[in-house]
Amino acid sequence: MIKGNGRPVYEGVAIGRIYVLSKEHEITNTKCSDIEKELERFHQAQEKAKEELGVLYDKTLREIGEEQAAIIEVQSLFLEDLDYIEGIEDMIKSGSDAAFSVHEIGDAQATAFASLDDEYMKARATDIRDISDRLIRILTGADQSFRMDEPGIIVSEDLTPSETVSLDKDKILAFVIRQGSSNSHTAILARVMNIPSLIRTDIDIDSALNGRTMIVDGFEGNYYIDPDDETMAQMLEKKKSAGEYKAELEKFRGFESVTKKGQHVSLFANIGSPDDLKYVISGDAEGIGLLRSEFLYLGRDDFPTEDELFEAYRKVVETMGGKKVVIRTLDIGADKKVDYFNLAAEENPALGYRGIRICLTQRDIFRTQLRAIYRSSAYGKVAIMFPMIISVSEVRAIKEFCAEIVKELEGEGVCLNPVELGIMIETPAAALISDLLAKEVDFFSVGTNDLTQYTLAIDRQNEKLDSFYDPHHEAIMRFLALIASNAHKEGIWAGICGELAGDLSLTDEFLKMGYDELSVAPSRVLALRKNVIESEV
Ligand code: PEP
Ligand code: MG
Repeated sequence: MIKGNGRPVYEGVAIGRIYVLSKEHEITNTKCSDIEKELERFHQAQEKAKEELGVLYDKTLREIGEEQAAIIEVQSLFLEDLDYIEGIEDMIKSGSDAAFSVHEIGDAQATAFASLDDEYMKARATDIRDISDRLIRILTGADQSFRMDEPGIIVSEDLTPSETVSLDKDKILAFVIRQGSSNSHTAILARVMNIPSLIRTDIDIDSALNGRTMIVDGFEGNYYIDPDDETMAQMLEKKKSAGEYKAELEKFRGFESVTKKGQHVSLFANIGSPDDLKYVISGDAEGIGLLRSEFLYLGRDDFPTEDELFEAYRKVVETMGGKKVVIRTLDIGADKKVDYFNLAAEENPALGYRGIRICLTQRDIFRTQLRAIYRSSAYGKVAIMFPMIISVSEVRAIKEFCAEIVKELEGEGVCLNPVELGIMIETPAAALISDLLAKEVDFFSVGTNDLTQYTLAIDRQNEKLDSFYDPHHEAIMRFLALIASNAHKEGIWAGICGELAGDLSLTDEFLKMGYDELSVAPSRVLALRKNVIESEV
């Protein structure tokens, strides 16, 4: 038995045969004598790749959603990119074989993209590799199509967007990937498909693994190849209990989240874009407690327009049909970087120019968002929440600006519904002055991810500090109790939207503190409702 591990991106246990998705091409530089003919061959391959991507785009849009389809669109653009195409043509003109030229130029450009600081540009390296692989396959006539005859576990170095959408999704039991990040295409797909998966694993990719039995434990982040009888028995048991637990949770669908003693708590969902709405519905969330607006700004080359933002917000608000939608304004900066914001490199980005600090100093960006959000209020029940607050003066400046926007829109004859204004409590400063802040706003939502980072002075992105990052730390519990109490003294509601809200071992504590709302990943809602309904508090 071989045992290894990686970082789990979705929990559960999968058992099945391994399918190695290998990407090796045999490419040699055969000098070509007829340059014109080789250029013509390359241009035909370029056209064929465009056609294939067109088909793939439609399939992705139908089966997965707009966000993934946009990635395919980006790849089509590379087929027109002058640096890329002329680079290849120049190599062919100097006598190189077309496939070899694509390989060399693709590799050089992918390496250049991968070395950039910007996360969006880094991710383009995968797109360049993907498009180059496609061209090479067409040029060499190699059949790269990957078929799964029976359900199994995909083992691969990494998966490109077009590989993921080309896979027969009904047959995938799990992914075990060597590379990837929590935001990689594979991780996104794993969450979309609710299948246990590991990224950043230590697995040695070798075609000899094909057909061997593998177990993926997405709870612990372990995988087992050729498991021994004892491991197999343990994992079968774990899989069975996971299945039973999931089935049991279904009993809580459609119920109100009220404790035995009659305490009510709203169980809302955290989302990043309208594409996530299907999970809000399948998860049975009672509203949206955190719409992370910055996701509408990621993965693009320029700022979204007011109408683009409005359409995204409207879709969410309308789909929720009168249930509350808490929209957080842009929290860009720190780990979420976008090239077109031209943010300078900082020594301490988490303590730097991020969130509300950008909005308050770049009012045009703030105005566009706020206009879009207020316009969406006509379609349901909207609340706006502001991140990274540290002072009363910031809140007053925000409220003034919001009033200005409302006046402006009303002057234009735009229909608006009343909108609650709230703040995230995610800095120790805001927690400590929550008594003063509560007088200014309609609600609080505690961002425990940042509140923990700033209270414990631990960078939440630094994996080396994982063992020190203790969200149950007494300091955090005291802050949480203080924040809820200060909110209630002023008669406003308080929620938690950081990861801690979904920590089932703390539900009773949060109920005792009197939290009115807990906002979690959509797939966590039913488990949390079970906890609330069965609570003795
Ligand atoms: C938080 O900080 O807890 C939070 C919900 O915001 P984000 O994770 O987006 O910073
Ligand atoms: Mg935060």
